[in-house]
Amino acid sequence: MKSLWQEIEFEKRGRLYGTQVADCTVIGAGMAGLLTAYELQKRGFGVIVLEADRVCSGATANTTAKLTAQHGLKYDKLIRKHGLGVAKAYYESNTRGINKYEKLTRELNVECDFSALPAYIYGRYSLYEVEKEALAADKIGAMYRLTKDTSLPFQVKGALRFENQAQFHPLKFAQAIAKNLVIYENTPVIDIEDGKVTTMEGEVRTQYIVNTTHYPIINLPGLYFLRQHQEKSYCISLKTYRTLDGVYLGADEDRSFRSFPEGVIIGGESHRTGENRKGGCLCRLKEKAQEYYPEGEITAVWSNQDAMTHDSLPFIGRYSAFAPRMFVATGFGKWGMSLSAVASELISDLICDRKNEYERLYSPRRVKLKAAFASFAVDAGYSVKGLAEGVFSSKEKRCTHLGCRLLENKDEGVLECPCHGSQFDKTGKVRFSPAKKNIKQS
Ligand SMILES: Cc1cc2nc3c(=O)[nH]c(=O)nc-3n(C[C@H](O)[C@H](O)[C@H](O)COP(=O)(O)OP(=O)(O)OC[C@H]3O[C@@H](n4cnc5c(N)ncnc54)[C@H](O)[C@@H]3O)c2cc1C
Repeated sequence: MKSLWQEIEFEKRGRLYGTQVADCTVIGAGMAGLLTAYELQKRGFGVIVLEADRVCSGATANTTAKLTAQHGLKYDKLIRKHGLGVAKAYYESNTRGINKYEKLTRELNVECDFSALPAYIYGRYSLYEVEKEALAADKIGAMYRLTKDTSLPFQVKGALRFENQAQFHPLKFAQAIAKNLVIYENTPVIDIEDGKVTTMEGEVRTQYIVNTTHYPIINLPGLYFLRQHQEKSYCISLKTYRTLDGVYLGADEDRSFRSFPEGVIIGGESHRTGENRKGGCLCRLKEKAQEYYPEGEITAVWSNQDAMTHDSLPFIGRYSAFAPRMFVATGFGKWGMSLSAVASELISDLICDRKNEYERLYSPRRVKLKAAFASFAVDAGYSVKGLAEGVFSSKEKRCTHLGCRLLENKDEGVLECPCHGSQFDKTGKVRFSPAKKNIKQS
């Protein structure tokens, strides 16, 4: 299933053979990797980007590309879990992230359908969650207002509107960022050690390593596989004469809306990876899309997934105390557009030994036992079950990451790992990390 954005053709790049040398090696050419590589190159580093597939073939190709600091019902949760200071810093850093896209779009003269507009969280049946989030918005100093006026195709009880947010075409933007970067495609990284990155047919000798593979591909050090799982959602684009004045997300229903030049994109039907064994998610979303926009003509149907951390904050920074020259950006919780820009600045500052005020906020080394415990326990349960079932599964149904049992997603015919979220297409090829090897190679 190809997303609406994948009409864009990226320039083809060669595979890496033999040995190369670089100051910094960035692994993974999604939005986080490209923006970080771009920033490091701008600061004078020699950078090589290694991509397992094609540039922007992962989550970035399948995003809905809302550029907003309104990340669902985030701020009430952050204040409760971590306190007001953390919530404020999260808002500020993501607002800076949005500004970075706006600045780059202008500076590089990128035609990427960038448009500034408001973001809304709407309450369709109740105002309870929206009002709670509005209180939190007030505390963090966001520019917001409560309104009943929306351009949604149904009535709502009310909505929380954030001003000065945006949307864009992610791949048109990424194409411009990638243009002058040294990138090797079809070059999966299979091993990482201090100073060296090994691929199928070559290696890069390097001082700094940046892991932007969406979900980290090495288990030790870091133990990221114990600290996050992946969640999937579905999207449909519809050609229609109707449009939307902003980007929308439901507070009391799992629906997302935004426009594109010819129509609207509707998202929803989220589940943990591996949990669509009976199918039906896509069908339900299609029915809803046709109910909202009966005149609409479906132009694309696709899915996407993202890494969800236990304490609702991403991991951006030094990979581990045991790997001081290795960096990571992961756990974006379905908000990796603004957070990729945050990551590009933060990781570049760390490499340059410059102070960055968000270092502690996003530090992968943080320990937030109270905020993380409940999700950790659920994930641990999935891992124990998946690993046990994997022992009795055939090789074709076992994940090449840690051996958990893979489950079919009936809507897409792909195999998904319920423990850590790796995904394999019908031929056994890895579509989403942490798995590095295709099923047939293992
Ligand atoms: C349904 C949905 C809608 C979303 N909508 C929004 C939105 O509106 N706004 C927003 O801010 N965020 C959104 N997100 C989140 C956002 O899309 C992601 O957080 C973001 O795209 C992640 O970018 P990335 O660069 O980390 O990962 P990717 O884009 O997945 O890039 C990682 C790259 O690493 C490569 N790779 C993997 N393993 C290896 C290896 N071994 N060697 C070399 N390369 C490797 C992959 O091939 C891939 O190209 C959404 C997420 C979902 C699920």
